[in-house]
Amino acid sequence: MATFSIKCPHCLRDNTSFTVAGSRLHAAKKQGFNSVETFATCNACRRGICATVQVSYPAVAIELETTAVLLVTGPHLLVGEWLPRPPLPDIPDHLPASVAKAYTEAEQLRIAGFRGPAGNAYRRALESALKEVDPDLKGSLYARIEKLTETGLLTKNLRDFAHRIRNLGNEASHETPIVEDDEIDSLAIFTKLFLMYQFTLPGMLPVRAAE
Ligand SMILES: [Zn+2]
Repeated sequence: MATFSIKCPHCLRDNTSFTVAGSRLHAAKKQGFNSVETFATCNACRRGICATVQVSYPAVAIELETTAVLLVTGPHLLVGEWLPRPPLPDIPDHLPASVAKAYTEAEQLRIAGFRGPAGNAYRRALESALKEVDPDLKGSLYARIEKLTETGLLTKNLRDFAHRIRNLGNEASHETPIVEDDEIDSLAIFTKLFLMYQFTLPGMLPVRAAE
C-alpha cells in the first residue's frame, strides 16, 4: 500500500504517516499519466483526506491501495493538494501590528487545542486593540472599556462585545478552565468581529481626498 507523511488536518500532528485506503481512476486506464482520486487515512487518528494523483502507468500500478510506493511527487507521480487543509489562523486585514500579533497567537493556541491559554490570548488581543484606540488609558480592563464608551471611542454595541470577550477570556484563564470548546469558538468570533469593526472596516474605506 502507498504511504506518505504530511501534517494531519484532523489531529494536527506534524509530518505524520498516512496510508492509502482507496483509489479511483477518473477515466479509463491509458499508457502514461492517469488521474487517480486517492483516499488516505492518518495512521495516528484514522481520519481521512483525499487528493488527485497523476500516476504514470505502467511505471507505477494504478491501484495505489495495494502498491508499495512512497506517494510523493517524482518522475512517475504528481501528487495534488491533500484536502481538507489543516486549519490556519484567520487574521482580519488592516490590524495594527501589535493587535495582529496578539490575535495570531490566540488563533494558533485555539487551533492547537490549548483552550485556556487561547482564552487568555484573545483577551490580550482585545487589550492590545484598546491600547491602539487610546494609548493613555489606565485601570482595569472593565474600566478601560467603560471609559472608551463614555468618550465615544467605542460604540455601545462594541462595548458589549468587548465585555463579552473580557468575561469569556477571564473564565478561560482560570487554572481549571470552565469554558467549553464552543465558548472558545465564540470568543474567537467575538474577538474577530470586534477587530474587524474597529480596524478592518475603517481600513477598507477609500482614503478621503483632502477637502
Ligand atoms: Zn491524524
